Amino acid sequence: MDLFEKCTNFTAARDAQQIGLYPYFIPLAESEGTVAEYQGQELIMCGSNNYLGLTTHPEVQEAARDAITRYGTSCTGSRFLNGTLELHERLEIELADWIGKESALVFSTGMQVNLGTISSLVGRNEYVILDRDDHASIVDGARLSYGDLIRYRHNDMDDLENKLSKLDSERGKLIVVDGLYSMEGDIAPLPDIVPLCETYQARLMVDDAHAVGVLGGGRGTAAHFGLTDQVDLIMGTFSKSFASLGGFIVGAEDVIHYIKHHARSLIFSASIPAPNAASALAALKIMIREPERIQRVNEIAARMRREFTALGFDIGNSETPVIPIIIGDDMRTLQTWKMLFDNGVFVNPVLSPATPPGRQLLRTSYMATHTDEQLDQVLDVFEAVGKKLNLI
Ligand code: PMP
Repeated sequence: MDLFEKCTNFTAARDAQQIGLYPYFIPLAESEGTVAEYQGQELIMCGSNNYLGLTTHPEVQEAARDAITRYGTSCTGSRFLNGTLELHERLEIELADWIGKESALVFSTGMQVNLGTISSLVGRNEYVILDRDDHASIVDGARLSYGDLIRYRHNDMDDLENKLSKLDSERGKLIVVDGLYSMEGDIAPLPDIVPLCETYQARLMVDDAHAVGVLGGGRGTAAHFGLTDQVDLIMGTFSKSFASLGGFIVGAEDVIHYIKHHARSLIFSASIPAPNAASALAALKIMIREPERIQRVNEIAARMRREFTALGFDIGNSETPVIPIIIGDDMRTLQTWKMLFDNGVFVNPVLSPATPPGRQLLRTSYMATHTDEQLDQVLDVFEAVGKKLNLI
């Protein structure tokens, strides 16, 4: 049997392309943030993670340009060896201080944070406990570890407690949750998870990729609940509100020190290039200086949740600027996506198995820089498409 036979037999994507319903890898010609261009057509962007709209902010762009001039385009090596710049360390100090933890460590992507952190911390004879809706990078980090992987039903505290109560009390435990769930925009109930961690002696890590810059005055989900001291580790990415690329983890100094010397995705991969570190630092400064941006994205989100619900769309349990429109069927989700796209609105279809059967959805997300007029237009298009396809 030829190893590549599966490639020849893989036709699902080509079939979708042939009928004009292929929604992935769309090459955008330009993007100024809220508006993108595809083959001469303007699209209002409701599918990015640029929550604060900082990718085109002059200060962020200038910081990237200055960093290239000073440090060049690449570090050409790992943080561990030749690839650590003073800039990385400055960024780490400011991140730890901002979130309110002792130490931070900057990785090249958020994916690498989760791979390296979880796999280095959870050893043989230890447990890693995940919510079923945790991001793929958390699942992969857990799989790379030598520990036992346990999963509980999404945000179901009875199931979590039930699972915890059956584990060996002598063995180390790490619970990892998304703070803000990336597909359905709901929030992890940290006020319920923290006491369970205390009862069952588990450590808690929160993936705040979508929550930094958005919740808790920008400091994330733990800050949103006033629980920063009770959450052991908080990870974030620069690829969303921070308008860059890279990721970080913050926590107690000795834990970060351990990760720094054991995380293979940090040690065996080149460090985040200077322009990315500099633009993340510039974005952080703007977040701190201009909290009104964080307020604006949350106000926009509240308006969109209210208006989608009033139109009759099912938005699940979203409480954030990530608002799913639950359609519940692959083909109908694709048809709706296509009709929205043709009418100038860019959203992301999420199909099974990325979402459980019956939860297929369009993921919409918003930016502080969306104008009220753009949002009016998005709602008008959704209403027209929803009626045409009998979704509302
Ligand atoms: N965690 C979550 C919840 C995410 O949504 C993502 C990115 N989509 C990541 C981690 C990985 O971040 P990055 O893009 O920096 O690799």
